[in-house]
Amino acid sequence: MPECIICAKHRGEGPLGGERVAVLDGFWIYHAPEGDDGRAPLGYLFVESARHAAYLADLTDDEARALGRLRVRLARALRDELAAEFTFAMVVGTGVAHFHEHLVPRHPGTPPELPWYRSDEGAPRATRAAVADLASRLERRLTG
Ligand SMILES: [Zn+2]
Repeated sequence: MPECIICAKHRGEGPLGGERVAVLDGFWIYHAPEGDDGRAPLGYLFVESARHAAYLADLTDDEARALGRLRVRLARALRDELAAEFTFAMVVGTGVAHFHEHLVPRHPGTPPELPWYRSDEGAPRATRAAVADLASRLERRLTG
């Protein structure tokens, strides 16, 4: 069985990057990593199960409750920190079979014709320092 790259990321190994926002209630929350230009779509988050559960249906009831709370609290935090109009929550999982949810804020000024699944293209392109700053502010909102 090949190595799970999300489990590897949680051990600080493997190819996946991204600023860690928090580890809370059985989930790891990360900001999306920078692209080749050294910038990341501001506010694009991943919520990943700490346990290796492949898909949504593999979460326990306790994990489901925690995920629901975290998703809503993160959407509020993105609204309050970035003035996001709203946040999309997407579970896809066709790339890596370790549960992860994409949370993508819709930033003010995003062209209405930009489809939901390309909302990251409407996000400001953030430097690593800006991402680290946002990650610490989001963590404070989650744990404060
Ligand atoms: Zn895994």
